[in-house]
Amino acid sequence: MSKPNTMKALEKSHAKEGLWMVQAPVPEIGPDDVLIKVKKTGICGTDIHIWNWDDWASATVPTPMITGHEFAGEIVEIGRDVKGFEIGQRCSGEGHLITHESRQSRAGKFHLDPGTRGIGVNEQGAFAQFLRLPAFNVVPLPADIPDEIGAILDPLGNAVHTALSFDLLGEDVLITGAGPIGIMAAAVAKHAGARKVVITDINAARLELASHVVPSVITVDVSKEDLNDVMHREGMVQGFDVGMEMSGSQVALDQMVEALVMGGKIALLGIPPGKSPVDWSRIVFKAITIKGVYGREMFETWYKMIAMLQNGLDVSRVITHEMKVDEFRDGFAAMKSGKSGKVVLDWT
Ligand code: ZN
Repeated sequence: MSKPNTMKALEKSHAKEGLWMVQAPVPEIGPDDVLIKVKKTGICGTDIHIWNWDDWASATVPTPMITGHEFAGEIVEIGRDVKGFEIGQRCSGEGHLITHESRQSRAGKFHLDPGTRGIGVNEQGAFAQFLRLPAFNVVPLPADIPDEIGAILDPLGNAVHTALSFDLLGEDVLITGAGPIGIMAAAVAKHAGARKVVITDINAARLELASHVVPSVITVDVSKEDLNDVMHREGMVQGFDVGMEMSGSQVALDQMVEALVMGGKIALLGIPPGKSPVDWSRIVFKAITIKGVYGREMFETWYKMIAMLQNGLDVSRVITHEMKVDEFRDGFAAMKSGKSGKVVLDWT
């Protein structure tokens, strides 16, 4: 392939607020890598932290760094030792780069590798016309999954990994936090056979989006309505069977623990801003199981989510904004407003 020497990229060029559109060198690939021509990317909450240059970002992200890790594109160059891919293959991919030496990796639990590095955070990312990725991380896209959905498989994968942490068939599910991942988790829970799915937030716009994406979900604005009243109205007298905490809010976690049945289960994806007081004795006496969820299982989560998308799972309406990458400022502004769903940038 005749490829250009430089490419457009959205970069954290300076250790201060903002991202900058730059010309960066097109990455050189190694023997085990592929080069992907990026078509569409999703903006993640992580990218907002990096834009804002908060405590986490300034302590974690070196500069210059091309941001972004949610993408869909097409393979345009293949490393010498890579097998099983062809030029032109449409793909998304896992943005967590792992080592293969740890006990967890060697046991096949790649998502638990302690040496994990993230593209767009620790390694050059996907907000660019070209992305270098180990072939191991590539996930081919079937023809019936469009690029804009391919570009949000990373956060959908968070939702799927969280939602499939516990058996949901016939269960009543409480999701705290109606951001895009919480909303997609509600869609997955319904698809996986949950009976009632309730999603809470204090942001009316997000709850409205939740109803729009998942018409059968029960939305509760906990700043206006008592969750107990909703539970009684909906016939959940004993409480929810499974909780998914997506907000990082201590108040939400407390509400969840209160609202769960004895022996209930909680999957935690939301990240509290710092250390957060937890009523552990309540959790012990209710015999609650808690699981922390990080990333996506490689590659079982990817397999399951693509299978579900091919079997009727529809999360397309969670994408509220699609725009050309040159309008990235509008996309970031929409994300920062707290009223958007997923924002997808078009690099073609
Ligand atoms: Zn993300």
